[in-house]
Amino acid sequence: LPALLMIAALVVGSAACEKHRDTAALPHPLVVVGVDGVEWRLVLDMMKTGGLPELRRLMNDGAFARLSTLEPALSPPIWTSIATGVVPERHGILGFVQPELQGPGGAPLLFTNRDRRVKAIWNIAADAGLRSCVVGYWMTFPVEDISGVIVAQSGAPPGSEASRTRKGGLERGRSGQVHPPELEQRIFALAEDSAPLVAGREQELYGDWSAWPPAMKRVVEHSHWSLAADTAYQRIALDLLRGGDRCDVVLVYLGLPDVLGHRFWRWTFPEDFEAPPSADEVRLFGDVLRRAYAQVDRFVGQMRDAAGPAATLIVASDHGMGPWRAKARVDLAEQSARPDAGLLRTGGHSAAREAFFAGAGPGIRRAGNASPLPADVAATPNAGSILDMAPTLLALLGIARGADMDGAVATSLLDSAFLAAHPLAEVATHTPAGWADTRHLAKAEDPQSGQRIEQLRGLGYLE
Ligand SMILES: [Zn+2]
Repeated sequence: LPALLMIAALVVGSAACEKHRDTAALPHPLVVVGVDGVEWRLVLDMMKTGGLPELRRLMNDGAFARLSTLEPALSPPIWTSIATGVVPERHGILGFVQPELQGPGGAPLLFTNRDRRVKAIWNIAADAGLRSCVVGYWMTFPVEDISGVIVAQSGAPPGSEASRTRKGGLERGRSGQVHPPELEQRIFALAEDSAPLVAGREQELYGDWSAWPPAMKRVVEHSHWSLAADTAYQRIALDLLRGGDRCDVVLVYLGLPDVLGHRFWRWTFPEDFEAPPSADEVRLFGDVLRRAYAQVDRFVGQMRDAAGPAATLIVASDHGMGPWRAKARVDLAEQSARPDAGLLRTGGHSAAREAFFAGAGPGIRRAGNASPLPADVAATPNAGSILDMAPTLLALLGIARGADMDGAVATSLLDSAFLAAHPLAEVATHTPAGWADTRHLAKAEDPQSGQRIEQLRGLGYLE
């Protein structure tokens, strides 16, 4: 009798699987919007008053979590760990600059795509016959020959045309930025088309800033490159999704929330500071970072619409943010009187604050009923670490985890019917010995840009 019951249970089980076949299908495409420095605390703060409707919808329709991050919380190693599932010591991207090497003229030598030693998910997806479209992602310059499209995040040589737009400055005639090369003209045209949008977004973020104190005007001027880069990446990502390019996996990176988080934390959360800013200052600058988050939210909605109903959409950050030097006195008048003063910096992520994750679509666990907003960051579930991103994304693509990955599949984020239909599997490794020497990377001049180094200094990453 027990055996019969078991058989009956198996039959019922398989019937249930058949019934759930559609919902258990693999997502198509799998879209990841990577946003630097998104902090749960600010997300929840905005959602309490109805802000960030697209991210809220993702949370309601799917799963959300905190992910712990790496120390030091630096973007190049972390984003590479997100893409590879291994720690920086293994993937080879240890920071912004090579600690012991110098470029021409003694300039620090930046890490590039050449330094990555293990496969990223776009390499692994290509092995499985899938096409990836990767836009603005860290450490993708010079581009590599994969199945799909790569628009690299790259600096620009000093004095070049692109050095004025800096990060993401796609420069016609400069090689190594777009794969495949025959897409260069289209991608460059899209980046140029996005330029007129930047002024409107700047207006939206800052309002009329012509009468701001010089110290704050400098902040606006020195954040322009990041807004321009994000605007171009967004335009390109939407075009690839809408344009009939087959993208099975889409990764797009946005950096502005981190850049403005470093600049505007003091006025976003005045209560974090021992000597808080005046009410007048908060009125002028207190909403800038919130508006930057709102712009990301709008883009998330556009990506969802462009990706279609069979897509799984994930928004993830590499780390959160908090106050920087909360005890320091900040006097805008004094700062403004010193044109040689460094850029104001009041936010940071040296304490490895946890990363943001929200996703919805096939494969992602669905809360079912509208989930109540967590009361605070501590009440937000922790689903693991940013190292779990790559194995989890692979699971969503029906691809086995590499047993040599440092991260695990974050099963708490995945749908149980999906897991039943696509049982988790493992292979020893996705990166055969010697793979790094066989990579096909475009020949390109390195972005040993003084400008790039200056940006990094301005953000406090380099002394
Ligand atoms: Zn940062």
